[in-house]
Amino acid sequence: MARPPSLNPEKARRAAAHPDRPGEDCRAEPGRTRIVVDRGRCEGKGDCVEVCPYGVFEVGRIADEDFARLGVLGKLKSLAHRRRTALLVKLDACRACGMCVVACPEKALSLR
Ligand code: SF4
Ligand code: SF4
Repeated sequence: MARPPSLNPEKARRAAAHPDRPGEDCRAEPGRTRIVVDRGRCEGKGDCVEVCPYGVFEVGRIADEDFARLGVLGKLKSLAHRRRTALLVKLDACRACGMCVVACPEKALSLR
């Protein structure tokens, strides 16, 4: 199926053409696939926001319980990035295109 436009079409085009892109090329039923964010890796810079065609992500403040689960290095990294992280605000809209996984510079995203 045709994907809706991303916020950054050029970055999305590169992600779509990436040879390591996982997923089902938007053929998954919405909500069947879960995106998982590694909070210890995410730096909240928002490449995932720019490429996701379905608005799954926003960048915002890491939840206190997620912050508390980070190790010492993870906490320092999170603080260095003002506790910004990728929030899954429309997780059920994910159709497993896999573009966010290959667009993330920190390798913080995986599809389950
Ligand atoms: S998940 Fe990756 S692309 Fe998204 S904000 Fe975090 S580091 Fe950036
Ligand atoms: S895999 Fe899901 S969350 Fe990631 S860009 Fe595609 S639709 Fe968005």
